[in-house]
Amino acid sequence: MFESLSFAAMKIELEHQKQRAKDAKKANKKYFAKLAKRPPRILDRAVASLHEEVFQEVDCLECANCCKTTSPIWRDKDIERAAGFLKLRPAELTEKYLHLDEDGDYVFNSAPCPFLGEDNYCSIYEARPKACREYPHTDRKQFHQILSLTLKNTEICPATLEIVKRLQQILPV
Ligand code: SF4
Ligand code: SF4
Repeated sequence: MFESLSFAAMKIELEHQKQRAKDAKKANKKYFAKLAKRPPRILDRAVASLHEEVFQEVDCLECANCCKTTSPIWRDKDIERAAGFLKLRPAELTEKYLHLDEDGDYVFNSAPCPFLGEDNYCSIYEARPKACREYPHTDRKQFHQILSLTLKNTEICPATLEIVKRLQQILPV
């Protein structure tokens, strides 16, 4: 169970997040391979309800592991919106904070995110990139299309790991 975690407990959980995900990876991969054959709408319904359930129990402000360890992809619209919010020109924002990765997408130069505060608040929250708003994508439809991404996200996001764990209980294959 992913009980509502105290800040200290969350920190301990995060230290072991990658290892916990790695330990469960083989079983989760096997489960996802079988799950891919299930009707998409049944999977979508189950994941949507688990997303609601788990995110009522976890406080992202006590975690912020996504903002600390990985970068969102920045599309042109994201750059324009955040630049406007910061009163910068889009080119200035790009030059200061971003670079192109091997897939040709703009990502942060470094992690943690430069807009993440020590209190885990995002200083550009209203203008944050779409990828930040949608992370970890556990409330999206056609969930069967993002099983590999979800498996990857279990190494970063404790809520995703918990959703995948509970999914196996309510939707055995
Ligand atoms: S822009 Fe905000 S939400 Fe996105 S990674 Fe940075 S701190 Fe997190
Ligand atoms: S989305 Fe996941 S990794 Fe990001 S802050 Fe919330 S629980 Fe942590």
